[in-house]
Amino acid sequence: MATVAFIGLGNMGGPMAANLVKAGHTVRGFDLSVAALDAARTAGASVAGTPSEAAAGADVVITMLPSGKHLLDVYGSGVLGAAATGALFIDCSTCDVESARKAHALASDAGMLSLDAPVSGGVGGATAATLTFMVGGSADAFERGRPVLEAMGKRVIHCGDAGNGQAAKICNNMILGISMIGVCEAFALAEKLGLSTQSLYDVASTSSGQCWSITSYCPVPGPVPASPANNGYKPGFAAALMLKDLRLAQAAAQQVAAATPLGAHAAQIYALFDAAGHGGDDFSGVINFLKGQAG
Ligand code: NAD
Repeated sequence: MATVAFIGLGNMGGPMAANLVKAGHTVRGFDLSVAALDAARTAGASVAGTPSEAAAGADVVITMLPSGKHLLDVYGSGVLGAAATGALFIDCSTCDVESARKAHALASDAGMLSLDAPVSGGVGGATAATLTFMVGGSADAFERGRPVLEAMGKRVIHCGDAGNGQAAKICNNMILGISMIGVCEAFALAEKLGLSTQSLYDVASTSSGQCWSITSYCPVPGPVPASPANNGYKPGFAAALMLKDLRLAQAAAQQVAAATPLGAHAAQIYALFDAAGHGGDDFSGVINFLKGQAG
């Protein structure tokens, strides 16, 4: 079992750190929020006063922070010098690919191993230890990190070198953002054409239009009882986080001159939905915004 420093104990990091404790690891946490530290203590972790204090002598240092800027701030704060020689740094935040690759370079310069390992599965997956990890970094770092990640998730996929975990995450979520809008448009059109939501669901969920946005997250109440549409569009996956991921995809696309016109349009639609005060709604709630745009 490892000594793990866990920096960023928010909605995701808190339950992930708790699952590491349950698996028998020694966890030392740090967060700027006192409430987050209290919750970590209750879950059986010890808490530190600074990121470096948390990392002192640790075998593994995990970060779960809001963005690449926060990650580089923490990596620049002395943690890389504080951990045990050859320690493994795992960043599970969703970050831009460029910051992720800079973080790997900083870790490597300090003689540390590193992985970018963003997640899919949300707070529910973090709590139930069923997250999917998309992992970038060397084969050595991956093999060292795998048992730690498996204590917090059910799928751990090595996607290639440094930054490729973040690349996989934003490509997947760009598909999701675009497909959800397509599904919402189809259900809004069906309503105007007098086709029931159940009939469209029965056809599209078993035909060529089938996708996760229909079968797991159907954006209208009824056909999929567990979807957020049946629960007032409570997240689930908040629209503001979808907007974050779509913007990261656009930033990456611009850097490598990739054509992503539908990804760009999806980002614009989610930006309008967010600006209208719905950033905290589930992202499937965009159907009501689209219906509101109708002539
Ligand atoms: P959150 O805001 O609940 O948690 C972030 C935590 O980081 C906060 O507790 C904050 O106090 C802490 N923090 C910020 N700066 C810090 C610093 N310098 N040092 C120490 N702690 C610091 O966010 P979250 O929902 O837990 O998301 C974390 C990451 O996971 C984000 O990158 C997000 O995009 C990604 N993610 C979230 C979800 C989700 O459903 N919430 C799903 C997949 C991925």
